Amino acid sequence: MSLNRRNVLKSLYTLGAMAVGLGPFEGMQVNASTATANKQALSGKKIIIVGAGISGLSAASLLKKHGASILVIEAKDYVGGRIKTDWSLGAPFEFGAGWIHGPSNNNPIKNLADRNGSKYFLTNDDSLELFDRNGRKIKEDKIDEIDAKWNHCLQKIDDKLSYNSQFNLHDAIVNECSKEWSDQGIKWAATAYAEFDIGGPIEKISASLYDEMKYFEGEDIIIASGYQKILSSLAAGLNIKLNSPVHKIDYRNALIHVDTEKESFKADYIVCSVPLGVLKTNQIEFKPNLPVKHLSSINKLGFGTVTKLALKFDDPFWNRNTQYFGTMTDEKGRWPYWLNYRTFSDENILLGLSFGNYARKADNMSQKEIVDDGLDVLKNIWKDKVTKVNNFIATSWLTDPFSRGAYSYVEETNKEYDFDNLLEPVSNKLFLCGEHTIFKYAGTTHGAYLTGQKAAQSIISIA
Ligand SMILES: Cc1cc2nc3c(=O)[nH]c(=O)nc-3n(C[C@H](O)[C@H](O)[C@H](O)COP(=O)(O)OP(=O)(O)OC[C@H]3O[C@@H](n4cnc5c(N)ncnc54)[C@H](O)[C@@H]3O)c2cc1C
Repeated sequence: MSLNRRNVLKSLYTLGAMAVGLGPFEGMQVNASTATANKQALSGKKIIIVGAGISGLSAASLLKKHGASILVIEAKDYVGGRIKTDWSLGAPFEFGAGWIHGPSNNNPIKNLADRNGSKYFLTNDDSLELFDRNGRKIKEDKIDEIDAKWNHCLQKIDDKLSYNSQFNLHDAIVNECSKEWSDQGIKWAATAYAEFDIGGPIEKISASLYDEMKYFEGEDIIIASGYQKILSSLAAGLNIKLNSPVHKIDYRNALIHVDTEKESFKADYIVCSVPLGVLKTNQIEFKPNLPVKHLSSINKLGFGTVTKLALKFDDPFWNRNTQYFGTMTDEKGRWPYWLNYRTFSDENILLGLSFGNYARKADNMSQKEIVDDGLDVLKNIWKDKVTKVNNFIATSWLTDPFSRGAYSYVEETNKEYDFDNLLEPVSNKLFLCGEHTIFKYAGTTHGAYLTGQKAAQSIISIA
């Protein structure tokens, strides 16, 4: 998920919230004195955490500090979930989270990354070359014009729609800005900014709520030393069982039973941090079923996908100093945004991103199809300068059985509480957490981390 410089409305909202003292952490911080006072409050308690992503690890490490006996059960063969770094291309390829959004001192992910000795690269959204559908470079003043039109259009929608309006962003743009919508630059902005930022297709994103989320301050940063490394201190000393998908959670009795295919475990409390896509596809049987309120949220909330494709070449045929390339294509969402690795590494890699409905298509392509598809977009610009691909990596979060998508987003019929409801304890025994359980920071690593803290705090206060 990305907060783009051109998304003026959001930035203004954040600054406004800060100015009136609505700190982004409100109600989410762990009270240090309580934490110290209850240091052994959970002594003798067994707690199972399902899922070793950032939210699950955040809960596990706090609960361990309070004396609980912790078992983390993870379906995959690695720790991190949607934080996963691959070094096979010679530079960090991030399967999931790639940027720390708003790396201010308040941002818990920045603090975690600092603690783990991370190295950073400060991104610059203004370093952008944009190309039209014919592969022609667009002049800088025309890019500014597109940005101005896009922001004007969002402002018009914001002025027109009330908080309770149930319009999707696409319909709102077509209704309020029909003239602008005929501009291919606006169609590009809709996908490269809105669909990337929110993680769903504009045909489904809520027009009234999508810009109500909050952000930490500061320009986004890339972790040049790899995102996954930030998890080291959280995971240290935890008992983590990998390759063990949980398929049943029975919380009818005082002791909760958790079943994987081969084993059964018992616990006093359970934190379930699996992604929304896993909950939506009923891969885990809950006994009794989750409360209606939780089920309703799980059904209603949007869960989209974003596809990443890294293409490595022997030599750069592009401008090595430009950070991002924007590419307008006939089909909305088809590789509209490329990150140039030469700006922060020695590797000749272009990282393409697909969004919205097109990302669903890309996630279902074969490896050959996806590479050819990305190359096709590059060849429209750099023609026969595009050389043979030396190596590549492509993601497919939609087909990943333990995710079923990239991150949650607010659909036109959703309300803030559809996210926040999910954090409410179930029978004071079962606690959900994850990026989909917090409206204001949905779809981010910091949001996921904070929900893990919140789930842990709930257990500490109950026990
Ligand atoms: C392509 C992409 C780009 C992103 N970009 C950014 C970004 O730039 N910045 C940012 O802040 N955020 C970004 N995000 C979002 C961020 O990665 C997530 O919000 C965050 O990592 C989610 O953490 P989590 O703990 O909620 O879920 P996860 O990390 O998904 O953890 C859940 C864990 O549960 C496990 N699991 C699933 N089913 C079972 C089961 N049955 N039994 C046991 N374990 C199970 C999973 O394998 C996983 O390890 C991006 C995500 C994606 C996919």
